[in-house]
Amino acid sequence: MTATTGYPSEILLAQPRGFCAGVDRAIEIVERALTLFGSPIYVRHEIVHNAYVVDDLRRKGAVFVESLDDVPDDATLIFSAHGVPKAVRARALDRGLRVFDATCPLVTKVHMEVTKLRAEGFEIVMVGHRGHPEVEGTMGQASAGMHLVETAADVAALEVADPDRLAYVTQTTLSIDDAMEVIGALKARFPAIREPKKQDICYATQNRQDAVKFMAPQCDVVIVVGSPNSSNSNRLREVAEKRGVPAYMVDAPEQIDPAWLGGKQRIGVTAGASAPEALAQAVVERLRQLGACYVRTLDGAQENVSFPLPKGLALLS
Ligand code: SF4
Repeated sequence: MTATTGYPSEILLAQPRGFCAGVDRAIEIVERALTLFGSPIYVRHEIVHNAYVVDDLRRKGAVFVESLDDVPDDATLIFSAHGVPKAVRARALDRGLRVFDATCPLVTKVHMEVTKLRAEGFEIVMVGHRGHPEVEGTMGQASAGMHLVETAADVAALEVADPDRLAYVTQTTLSIDDAMEVIGALKARFPAIREPKKQDICYATQNRQDAVKFMAPQCDVVIVVGSPNSSNSNRLREVAEKRGVPAYMVDAPEQIDPAWLGGKQRIGVTAGASAPEALAQAVVERLRQLGACYVRTLDGAQENVSFPLPKGLALLS
């Protein structure tokens, strides 16, 4: 869509956007642990990939660490929503730490698939992004027989012991379109490969990408609220860009460069699954200051997913 004036006039808000059930639960686990046990509460890795959320919890007494070596004896430790390798869990329990697991139940589901498939003698190909903590956690559910692929070229180079005893799993926050390409390559090269019963890409990833696919063609520019290390936020930006719409990711409203809006009339706004609605609203407010007059929330999937908290975190009333 080509704009005709120098000022943005309308903001379109994607639906759904922002927090998913796994992020809600993970933040609630840290908040409750702080209330019940006091600070410090140690958290292995950023609880979710959002700077605003992490800074807020840090102010309240959470200490974010990358290694268990930085967790003192007798501490309370929380695993982030991305999950951990089995060896990390075993070491934390061996040390007698009080552990609460904020791994998203939809990531845990993939961990259980890996464990079951390995027990049945399958080698497993994981489709995911190297270095992402969820991928490290899922790859770390087995000590052998795991292969990581990111692209169709990786599939072409893959060497497996028995193509008839092969299965795949995926990271939960992939681009659905990119994942389909890699999965297509896997199926073409290994026709007997076993698929997950239900795809591992989660409902929140699917819904947020679908919402951007619906929104982007109606916009001149798309702004994604999310931190640079958030996988699902990056994918939302790519989804818009692939539809030929310039798209930018911001962690805070002041990061919006007015030059992005020059000559644009309709601005789409969405937020990754780890980005709070307060930040999305702050972005809307900044866009209003830059000239946008109207805000319209688009139609989209309604979500009513919630996950139970781990035992031991009930608040006394
Ligand atoms: S994006 Fe999906 S897998 Fe990740 S925390 Fe949210 S619901 Fe769970």
